[in-house]
Amino acid sequence: MKTYDVIIIGAGAGGLKATAELHARKKSVLIIDMGDKPARKVAISGGGKCNFTNLAADYTHYFGKNPNFVRSALAQFSPNDTLNWVKKHKIKYYEKEPGRFFCADSAIDIVNALMDDIGNTEIKYNTVVKDVVKDDDIFTIKTNHGEFQSKSLIIASGGVSWETVGVSNIGHIIAKKFGHKIEPIRPALCAIKTKHFSADLAGISLPVEIKINKHVIRDDLLFTHFGIGGPATYRASLFDTHKFTINFAPDLNVPELLLNAKRTNGKRSLTNVVAEFLPQKLARFVCGDTTNIADYKDSQINEIAKHITQLDIDDAKPIGFQSAEVTIGGISTDKISSKTMESTLCPRLYFVGEVMDIAGDLGGFNLQWAFSSGFVAGNNA
Ligand SMILES: Cc1cc2nc3c(=O)[nH]c(=O)nc-3n(C[C@H](O)[C@H](O)[C@H](O)COP(=O)(O)OP(=O)(O)OC[C@H]3O[C@@H](n4cnc5c(N)ncnc54)[C@H](O)[C@@H]3O)c2cc1C
Repeated sequence: MKTYDVIIIGAGAGGLKATAELHARKKSVLIIDMGDKPARKVAISGGGKCNFTNLAADYTHYFGKNPNFVRSALAQFSPNDTLNWVKKHKIKYYEKEPGRFFCADSAIDIVNALMDDIGNTEIKYNTVVKDVVKDDDIFTIKTNHGEFQSKSLIIASGGVSWETVGVSNIGHIIAKKFGHKIEPIRPALCAIKTKHFSADLAGISLPVEIKINKHVIRDDLLFTHFGIGGPATYRASLFDTHKFTINFAPDLNVPELLLNAKRTNGKRSLTNVVAEFLPQKLARFVCGDTTNIADYKDSQINEIAKHITQLDIDDAKPIGFQSAEVTIGGISTDKISSKTMESTLCPRLYFVGEVMDIAGDLGGFNLQWAFSSGFVAGNNA
């Protein structure tokens, strides 16, 4: 049986980036993937436009037990390196928000660029890794299509979110077998279920501020049939809590605005006054009836203002792995070198991307992590 220099489990963003570096270093490499094509998550990322990096990427945009772990990899392959790589491949891109980059045409351009970089590297598709053993310094990878051997092994098998593309927890199982701790996993970057709102509000979107402990998120929120979605909610789902506070009018002094309206034009209904700065349906949901604003006591107006600016949600529940963009938790970074991505428990075993206990904020941070950690493992394996 041929013994490869390196076998990589997972032809996703991180696995392919690692392969590109190994290919440049002329190593013999085999990639094994359970899917029928490469980088299936990249292909659907960013609504088909792939938000491939964010220049703000530093450890403060990452979640997990030890976000500091990302520092070295991000320094070795930075968001600017990703942008230059995209330019080198002549991919058309645009900056949607300052520092946040998307493909202008299609996410497939990124998949093709990743594939270009790996040349003629062998890939076994539709091949499911079931187990790994290490004997006499050789890794044997057991799959549904036979066994393969290598001197080094890179686990880039991703998280377990967005189940429809085909995911598995094999990375966690193998890491555990070699003595690594697995941090509890949960879905993130997803919609949230809550009973606080009516399904009638579904489809309404507006900019909000969400406060979670000391963290403040400013982004758009979308009401859904089961609760809330949109970027603000996705970002809130990164925090491990059922509780947060929403401000639907973060740029306004709502109590003052309503009390002024009561004094200057008391015959208007409270709902109509609120509908000047909130969508009509939401205004009706918050205010309840169409009573003239003058008929409300100041204390009642302050109470309504509080509903608009400090609405406490206490039953938030992420919708689940099936439609979450990332998995938080996974292989603890405790026993992994942040400089090489090598296990400190098992020599020549490496980890890349989302399979580790690292998840990034919404905005291109997750692919940047896959690219940076892939680059590092590919240069050290
Ligand atoms: C809908 C969606 C949109 C997203 N949009 C963005 C975005 O715009 N920007 C951004 O930064 N991030 C985005 N993300 C997150 C990002 O795609 C992932 O964080 C990133 O792809 C993780 O890369 P990875 O290489 O670690 O794992 P993956 O890309 O998940 O690759 C893992 C690979 O391992 C293979 N595998 C798993 N188990 C086995 C097994 N047992 N045997 C063989 N092979 C196996 C899988 O088939 C897969 O190909 C999005 C995610 C989703 C789901």
